Amino acid sequence: MDRREVIVVGGGVIGLSIAWRAARSGISVTLLERDRFGAGATHAAAGMLAPVAEADFGGAGRALVELGLTSATSWPQFAAALERDSGLPSRLRADGALVLARDRDEAEALERQLAYRRRLGLAVTRITPSRARELEPALAPSLRLALEIPGESSVDPRWVCDALVLAARGAGAELREHCEVAGLVRRGGRVSGVALADGGQLGADRVVLAAGAWSAALSDVPVRPVKGQIMRLRDGDGPGLVGRTLRFEGGYIVTRGDGGYVLGASSEERGFDTTVTARPLYELLRDASELVPGLLDLEVEEITVGLRPGSPDNLPLIGASDEDGLILACGHFRNGILLAPITATLVVGVLEDALPSASVGSRHIPDEVGV
Ligand SMILES: Cc1cc2nc3c(=O)[nH]c(=O)nc-3n(C[C@H](O)[C@H](O)[C@H](O)COP(=O)(O)OP(=O)(O)OC[C@H]3O[C@@H](n4cnc5c(N)ncnc54)[C@H](O)[C@@H]3O)c2cc1C
Repeated sequence: MDRREVIVVGGGVIGLSIAWRAARSGISVTLLERDRFGAGATHAAAGMLAPVAEADFGGAGRALVELGLTSATSWPQFAAALERDSGLPSRLRADGALVLARDRDEAEALERQLAYRRRLGLAVTRITPSRARELEPALAPSLRLALEIPGESSVDPRWVCDALVLAARGAGAELREHCEVAGLVRRGGRVSGVALADGGQLGADRVVLAAGAWSAALSDVPVRPVKGQIMRLRDGDGPGLVGRTLRFEGGYIVTRGDGGYVLGASSEERGFDTTVTARPLYELLRDASELVPGLLDLEVEEITVGLRPGSPDNLPLIGASDEDGLILACGHFRNGILLAPITATLVVGVLEDALPSASVGSRHIPDEVGV
């Protein structure tokens, strides 16, 4: 059997980030993607790098905030290295975000979110509707309350994907598209390679499972698909309608800075169904245009459906699995773009035997990890 040091299964943002960073560390790595690179959730993602806005209550929620903050801090460096290694100009934007309330109930919910984030020491400010409209003049006068999160940024995930492919190949990684992994090969009590759908086999010292929402088809991991419908809009008059990421109950508008906007997203438990349906798109447009009426004049460029890799507690599964030779990098749910840098650092650390094995769930990741 043909052998290499590491095989990465899945060419989304997570697998590609790992392949790039592993190749840069001198590890011989082959990545196998059954479709096109980034064809999974990565293609649909809005690209918010939003550990503060996404902060959830509870222990797992706090762990995710910490992981997200570490990864967000490393994004400028990650993007700069990606720009340098790929030659593609960075599409990282540090515009900040506003979280918006349209009525009294939403305003009360925002106050609870504010109190929780303050308890965690996160940088969030309550601002009046008039201040919010000074910052974003396209906002409707009916706005009730807003929170400002100045530190949050966003990145175009399609740039990330294209740049990762170039950068990883430049660093010596072998990346294959249209190459489906049918199963893991086990020998002598450990995972020793992969069986390909075309009947071949490839051997490896270690296999990294980064197959997103499809990871459970290859190993016993608690990852499920969570459907997201999302649309891309374009302002023919160029940029300027909205500058910051705007978040509201049930959705968000992310600006690309070139007249392009992303309006997302539904969150549906429908297995692997990827049909486009009218209701969630109608609801997104209805709610978003209540806040930014000018949105309804934009061109609809694209409607996309993606499957987020959900996990039971919304934390990703990163690090050594229960099986020798198998490393997990899946279950990133709503935050895979945000968590790509920290995931690559942790997985490459395990591959280099520099980090103690992290086990299922990021709670087991050692505190001293920096990116
Ligand atoms: C609508 C939507 C909006 C989102 N917005 C954001 C956001 O704003 N910020 C953020 O951080 N995250 C966001 N996410 C989440 C983010 O997209 C995911 O967490 C991230 O893409 C997960 O990356 P991944 O590489 O694990 O999975 P994927 O991108 O799904 O990649 C997995 C890849 O594995 C391949 N694969 C599967 N099985 C096999 C096999 N057997 N053999 C070979 N290849 C295989 C698939 O074809 C796929 O390309 C969003 C997701 C959706 C759907």
